[in-house]
Amino acid sequence: MFTFLIWMLAAGCASESRDGGSPSQPGTSSFEVVSRGQVPESETAEVRGSIEEAIPRVLADLGVTELPPITVYVWGDADGFAQEYGEDATDVRGFISSENWEVHALYSGQPVWRSALHEYTHLVSLARNPQILGNARWLWETVAIFESNRPPRPDESTLACISRTHVPSLDELSEHPSNIYRVGHLLGEFIVQTWSREALGTLVATTGDTFASFGISPQQFEQMWLAYLLENHDINESTVGSVENC
Ligand SMILES: [Zn+2]
Repeated sequence: MFTFLIWMLAAGCASESRDGGSPSQPGTSSFEVVSRGQVPESETAEVRGSIEEAIPRVLADLGVTELPPITVYVWGDADGFAQEYGEDATDVRGFISSENWEVHALYSGQPVWRSALHEYTHLVSLARNPQILGNARWLWETVAIFESNRPPRPDESTLACISRTHVPSLDELSEHPSNIYRVGHLLGEFIVQTWSREALGTLVATTGDTFASFGISPQQFEQMWLAYLLENHDINESTVGSVENC
């Protein structure tokens, strides 16, 4: 089960309504938005509108032309959300069901559309390459964070795991539970600025193989990322980067 970690929880009570709009783009990327529990109609409408707007960009970036129909559940009922997730959902704000092509996003009083778009992007990645599920987590999250801007971009000078001489390795980012959520924006930006937006899709297609995608080793990729950050960003002055919490 793949999760998107963030902050607060809110309770809701059970009821169901269906945001019965017609499919957004029949044939290639249809989806519907379904609310569970108390979710304002304005929220489901915003989720639908924002995903609809993002679809052409996300599909183009990832080189996907066709998707199975997707159902986006927006949960106002936190207990039901946790039950659907099936494990401890304390820090979980969204997840996908890859078998059923479902997005689940928890509404807790704040706009939920970016969380839904983050999870939706995961499904688009799966449509490009089913092998990406459970592999190259650094890339899996980078793509979703870059496309949704969720979690929000941190102040880069506060990133403890990046310094003037150090970036976390791709393997470290895949293994650490939360660092990728802090640096995914910068990694996605580096890929897009150095190669192209479509390079995101190329990487997904190769399950994050930098050799197959760009002809360079992961270590070369990491050093290029560091050089990009030094040139373009105000990263912290410390000479020691940590692979602990970023
Ligand atoms: Zn995610």
